Amino acid sequence: MGVLEALRKVYPPGALITDPAQLSAYECDGLAAVRRRPLAVVFPASADQVVATVRTCCEQGVPFVARGSGTSLSGGSVPVAGGIVIALNRMNHILKVDPDNLRAVVEPGVVNARISQAAAPFGLYYAPDPSSQVICTIGGNVAFNSGGAHCLKYGMTSNHVLGLKVVLPDGEVAELGGSSLEVAGVDLPGLFVGSEGLMGVAIEITVRLLPKPEAVRTVLAAYRSLEAAGDAVAQVVASGLLPAAIEIMDRLAIEAAEAAVQAGYPREAAALLIVELDGPRDEVQCDFQRLVEVVNGSGAYEVRVAKDEADRARIWKGRKSAFSAVGRLSPDYIVQDGVVPRGRLGEVLREIERLSGAYGLRVANVFHAGDGNLHPLILYDGREPGAMERAEQLAGEILRLCIRMGGSITGEHGVGLEKRQYLAEMFGADDVEAMRRIRRAVDLREVANRGKMFPGDESFEGARALGPHPLERAGVLSRV
Ligand SMILES: Cc1cc2nc3c(=O)[nH]c(=O)nc-3n(C[C@H](O)[C@H](O)[C@H](O)COP(=O)(O)OP(=O)(O)OC[C@H]3O[C@@H](n4cnc5c(N)ncnc54)[C@H](O)[C@@H]3O)c2cc1C
Repeated sequence: MGVLEALRKVYPPGALITDPAQLSAYECDGLAAVRRRPLAVVFPASADQVVATVRTCCEQGVPFVARGSGTSLSGGSVPVAGGIVIALNRMNHILKVDPDNLRAVVEPGVVNARISQAAAPFGLYYAPDPSSQVICTIGGNVAFNSGGAHCLKYGMTSNHVLGLKVVLPDGEVAELGGSSLEVAGVDLPGLFVGSEGLMGVAIEITVRLLPKPEAVRTVLAAYRSLEAAGDAVAQVVASGLLPAAIEIMDRLAIEAAEAAVQAGYPREAAALLIVELDGPRDEVQCDFQRLVEVVNGSGAYEVRVAKDEADRARIWKGRKSAFSAVGRLSPDYIVQDGVVPRGRLGEVLREIERLSGAYGLRVANVFHAGDGNLHPLILYDGREPGAMERAEQLAGEILRLCIRMGGSITGEHGVGLEKRQYLAEMFGADDVEAMRRIRRAVDLREVANRGKMFPGDESFEGARALGPHPLERAGVLSRV
């Protein structure tokens, strides 16, 4: 029996699609320049259906990829041609909110922001807040160890996942970790979180909840140069303060955000710093005085403080919509994700400005500066011959710069497809081989998310595409 025949026994009509027009929405993710058509997409509604799908794929050597909302920016959820997409959006139930133990148990297709909504009646929330939090799923967050603006103080997804129920790539179900903070033995959830779907499919996730902070203060500071804003980050941290978030947006990002959501940013600024403090009221008030002193002393020419919750929400709306807003400035762009030691941010930003001039491509910067996590957005026009290749070369130069500075090729968007070749530039051959061995220990046939993370796999040769996203072509989406 072929794979499709076997899967038709598992899924009712409507929960398995093979129609090319319907499949086109699953050809790519947020990295729209790489596309592959899968053989089929399945929509499991239960753990048993996931187990049956994975087992069938493993027996037949058919690659599969788990998919949440497809917002990966590194091609992490692009399928292999002839492979199966396991779309988890129908497994979207919050199974338990346990305020006494500050826990929630959720299915993988739950959208990140919904966890905080469910916890809110208990005065609790879920801390990791990717800018895509109103659409991305907790399963995708787990696979990419996603971060967000407030991860400077609270840590990434890995710091908030206690337990996982997963379907291993051979179809076996394993429980990793549990609901306790204290675990004995190997940190298996730690191994699974950030493994980019290579270790199987998460079907149930136990996360920590935190009490909502008593007070929040948000400061917006404007600078005349991007480098000065970068240097200010090191000064804030060196002052002994630990803000919940420190974000930077440069001139192009400000322009895009203003055009999209009118956040009220100072339009003439070369760069903006958004710094947020949270915690007990007295502590926040005391830290706030100190923060304003440090920011004033760091060369900011204008410092604004959010007056109320609506003002604060407006500031964050501009920041959180900045990626998609850049679509207003350019028909195409690459969102890069790298990390540098915080103290070298000013230096790195100056070098990115130089590279942008040398390549003749505009680069917008909007990023989690407190973590040293850069997100240069490289703007290009895919209709111009060679423009995409030039943009990719520039992206590669920026990643190499991050490695030279002692940083990393990804802060939160994963290696995926996009950065496979750079893994070998960051790690020695022995290290990469050790990672492969761990992967093969759970997936000998490499059926789970084949072709991702490791250099040298040719599954995606010729998968690059120019022009509109398949959904734009179908008239469902449009670029403004
Ligand atoms: C506008 C925008 C802003 C963004 N901002 C941020 C940000 O601030 N921080 C950040 O970290 N990321 C950010 N991202 C990237 C992206 O949203 C995150 O990586 C997110 O975690 C992906 O979730 P998803 O549900 O869309 O996953 P998908 O894109 O569907 O999948 C991502 C990866 O997870 C795997 N996967 C999905 N579900 C499972 C599962 N249940 N079990 C095992 N593997 C699984 C997939 O195979 C794939 O490798 C942003 C993206 C966009 C488009």
